[in-house]
Amino acid sequence: MTAIMLGWDPDRREEWQFAYASAADAIRADGVASVSWPASVSPGAAGADVWIVLQGGHERGLLGHGTVADVRGPAGQSPDDDGSLPVDLDLLLPRGEHIPESVLLDRVPGIEWGADPTSGTLLAPEDALLLRAVWAEHAPSSAVDPVTPIPGTLPMSALTRVVVNRYERDPDAVRLCLAHHGTSCAVCGFNFEETFGAAGREYMQVHHIVPGSRMDADYVLDPLTDLVPLCPNCHAMTHRRTPEPYSSAELRRLIRPTTHLEGTLVDPAELCAQEDAARILGAG
Ligand SMILES: [Zn+2]
Ligand SMILES: [Zn+2]
Repeated sequence: MTAIMLGWDPDRREEWQFAYASAADAIRADGVASVSWPASVSPGAAGADVWIVLQGGHERGLLGHGTVADVRGPAGQSPDDDGSLPVDLDLLLPRGEHIPESVLLDRVPGIEWGADPTSGTLLAPEDALLLRAVWAEHAPSSAVDPVTPIPGTLPMSALTRVVVNRYERDPDAVRLCLAHHGTSCAVCGFNFEETFGAAGREYMQVHHIVPGSRMDADYVLDPLTDLVPLCPNCHAMTHRRTPEPYSSAELRRLIRPTTHLEGTLVDPAELCAQEDAARILGAG
């Protein structure tokens, strides 16, 4: 499968203008911004990578990624009667933080970066792979969920669409919650930085505690009261009960003072030591 490059020159006034700000807002809120981009070529398959390239005098370089949402014509031909290509954008870098053209010229010399790809340029498969590698190096990793791949770093065929609670993944809400509550787990107290040092700094998952039965269509998130920091273990345990997840208080009561599993053999002295330690620490 090939990929397509679409150019955007913010300074050029044309009939159609890419609405960067509203697309970026939609991606922040929903993870995707669906746009219809005027293009004269089609990559020929839904799911093909779409790369948004900044054109023009001031800032030039790679700005964003998306995938082709729907395709009617074969590869290379006009995508539609009206010449627009439906694209689902999934990541736009902040203006000014694009990958500069100098890096692209160096790393993917096969692409004619000086040309104007406004109406769409098909990329050769080897160039498409090189471009993905550059993107993977430069695109900001998600501090919220490092396990989720950054859009554009894996082909569509390697991904499944997973429904997530977007309040738990909203970077701004997570930042506010952690700034208020701190980055230690509200159930077990685990802290990534204490255990892993700098690599764990400021990382913690957050759990959205408002049950679905109490969220109407007008619900607005309050990141300070509706989110709590939870480590991935406690977060998983919280969601083990459905439809109402365990509360943090319930989960704390479930934590066992000793660490042996039923049916396993435990040295009586070891068990005694564990119970003493639990009593001293005030757990249980
Ligand atoms: Zn925990
Ligand atoms: Zn949760």
